[in-house]
Amino acid sequence: LGRRINSAVTDLTRSPTLTEKAFDGMIKEICNALMEADVNIRLVTSLRKTIKSSVKLDQLPPHANKKRIIQKAVFDALVDIVNPHQTAYQPKKGKSNVIMFVGLQGAGKTTTCTKLARWYQARGFKTCLVCADTFRAGAFDQLKQNAIKAKIPYYGSLTQTDPVVVARDGVAKFKKERFEIIIVDTSGRHHQEDALFAEMVEIQGAVQPHQTVMVLDASIGQAAEAQSRAFKETADFGAIIITKTDGAAAGGGAISAVAATHTPIVFIGTGEHLLDLERFNPQSFVSKLLGMGDMQGLMELVQSQNLDQKPTMKNISAGKFTVRDMRDQIQNVTKMGPLSKMAGMIPGMGNMMQGMDDEDASLKIKRMIYICDSMTAKELDSDGKIFSEQPTRMVRIARGSGTSVREVEEFLSQQQTMAGVAKSAKGMQANAQKAQGQM
Ligand code: GDP
Ligand code: MG
Repeated sequence: LGRRINSAVTDLTRSPTLTEKAFDGMIKEICNALMEADVNIRLVTSLRKTIKSSVKLDQLPPHANKKRIIQKAVFDALVDIVNPHQTAYQPKKGKSNVIMFVGLQGAGKTTTCTKLARWYQARGFKTCLVCADTFRAGAFDQLKQNAIKAKIPYYGSLTQTDPVVVARDGVAKFKKERFEIIIVDTSGRHHQEDALFAEMVEIQGAVQPHQTVMVLDASIGQAAEAQSRAFKETADFGAIIITKTDGAAAGGGAISAVAATHTPIVFIGTGEHLLDLERFNPQSFVSKLLGMGDMQGLMELVQSQNLDQKPTMKNISAGKFTVRDMRDQIQNVTKMGPLSKMAGMIPGMGNMMQGMDDEDASLKIKRMIYICDSMTAKELDSDGKIFSEQPTRMVRIARGSGTSVREVEEFLSQQQTMAGVAKSAKGMQANAQKAQGQM
């Protein structure tokens, strides 16, 4: 999706005269790409109007960076859609906060409720889990295994078949024991059935949750709108968690769900592991959707890895990103984990490494490190423009590192992208900090 939108914008801005007709054609191309990514058609229509009215072609100064202006208009419009302008419930320490999960079978409820419990536990909350799924055989066992692994107290029953009774007893027990976060996992069904909705409402009545969270699989695509609407009407959830964002789904369904229910996404699931849960950030989400790379996510990841990143962090905060920063990031990526996952966080890398397995990707990364090792300190600490000003430097580096000029160019173009993102991320930081306070 990102590449299609970017190429639509590039095609347009390459043409010497930017006519109104070419602009309309570009917007149409972007809208088609969004619809293919499962963004709801009505949303796309309104997005189209927003972009058209926010970019006034005839009023742009002659040397304006049209590509940047149009990209920013698309970015802002999408962020606005995915940002419900509402804050989710925020659990308080020293009291019992009951959080109930709802969603279809297979959406990722059981997996995610353990992830969320661990998340709060790591932040000093006394946390526990209640399994109110008596519908699916083995549901309690699954929750139990997860809970034991994460060292989180749990409650469930192998004999009681009424989920309402289990939920009520479990919550009552943990409230008495002064647990601060009590997460109630419920059963799903394959379809939105009356029986499921009736059960949901009964459990809600019995445990009186402070927060009901709807869990939505990122891959359900266009079905997201109807499904989230139906759940909202019966269970009235106050927050959404999107799971399986590590998969192939483009994420358009998530946008539709927020727009249909005006409910904030609070977290996203990014893998099957207990730690694969991230706070949702509208800017990062849209950046990824548009293929711009996830600067905020990368910064958080880098910070959580406790690597010595002070110089890079300082540069990024100042809106800068030097060649050396690029080299340090690439070197760190190799230490962090599966490359397929990390690469997507660096602008352009996801595309660059598409179709490569981890072995190919790690070879590619090694060659980039060789490239950097052939640079002078002055080159490494530069903003990278020195190379396009004096292209013979690239020839020298290619020779010295045993790579090709094309590879050196490719590497530097990634660094330039990153430098651009760092520059615009500086402006986004204030927004991101605001979003940190949610839930
Ligand atoms: P439930 O029926 O809603 O309770 O769904 P489960 O929690 O049992 O999850 C269904 C499947 O989705 C399991 O195989 C999970 O491992 C998987 N799953 C859940 N969340 C994620 C995620 O964020 N990424 C990936 N890749 N898999 C996930
Ligand atoms: Mg389950």
